[in-house]
Amino acid sequence: MADFFEDTSANVEWHIGSYRILNGIGKGSFGEVRLARHIMTSTEVAVKIVNYEDYADVAEEIYSLQELNHPNITTLFEVINTHQQVYMFMEYAPEGTLHEYIRKCGPFSEKKARAPFRQILSAVHYCHQKNIVHRDIKPENILLDMGLNIKLADFGLSEVFMEEKLTTVCGTNPYMAPELFRLEPYEGPKVDVWSVGIVLYKMLTGVLPFVGKNLEELTEYILSGVFFIPYSLSVPCHKLLQKMINIDAGRRPTLGIIMQDRWVNTGSQRS
Ligand code: ATP
Ligand code: MG
Repeated sequence: MADFFEDTSANVEWHIGSYRILNGIGKGSFGEVRLARHIMTSTEVAVKIVNYEDYADVAEEIYSLQELNHPNITTLFEVINTHQQVYMFMEYAPEGTLHEYIRKCGPFSEKKARAPFRQILSAVHYCHQKNIVHRDIKPENILLDMGLNIKLADFGLSEVFMEEKLTTVCGTNPYMAPELFRLEPYEGPKVDVWSVGIVLYKMLTGVLPFVGKNLEELTEYILSGVFFIPYSLSVPCHKLLQKMINIDAGRRPTLGIIMQDRWVNTGSQRS
């Protein structure tokens, strides 16, 4: 077990359970992510270390990761709890985030975007089938493995949904659906569909469809639902973006429907 007074600053390494905790690889609003090595097997893993006051703060994230078993979702290997800190040992995605990839390599062509986009759809659709809504889908939370396959991560805002609508307003502003800004009870999966649409827009253009000088302006644009789609994108692609980024949640399709979309399936065995 780590010592209570362990120095956890950036360059310090320590042991916990059967792992050696190495350098930092990411920092988020809820904690720190480090590289770790399983001592017996030398396998590299990522460990998310979250300080919590109430275990309920981390329970949902752990529950979701434990429930989910999908090739495009980071696998959780082990959870260790110590002194109001939780260590979540999970699959390491060495190629960083989709956000960094777009920044480094620029936007994807439609052809190149399809395979990773299908993997994103598959991962999020699977969550919805398991009654889990992610609620923070954005390129910073979409990781890439060695083969540049998608690994959906960060279930810190996830929640189990049943028949009733959800009410907690959360997410990352430019990716949040209009019903969240309207402070209305909302259908969980539909807010993920909106965010996945914004991610597709960002993959294809390198920018966001809704940008404001401040939160008030951003909210106004998102609520209007009016956004510009570059003419260079194909007509089927325009149609898909408009279907997903639809301010009327009732008319926004489920991911099951989106997976049958013409643009999504172009070039696959189904088309
Ligand atoms: P935020 O609230 O800012 O979204 P967070 O505190 O919930 O973040 P995560 O998003 O889970 O934390 O992780 C923060 C960052 O750490 C990620 O954006 C990514 O760069 C890196 N990271 C997280 N998990 C992994 C992983 N399994 N493999 C590689 N890098 C990871
Ligand atoms: Mg995150």
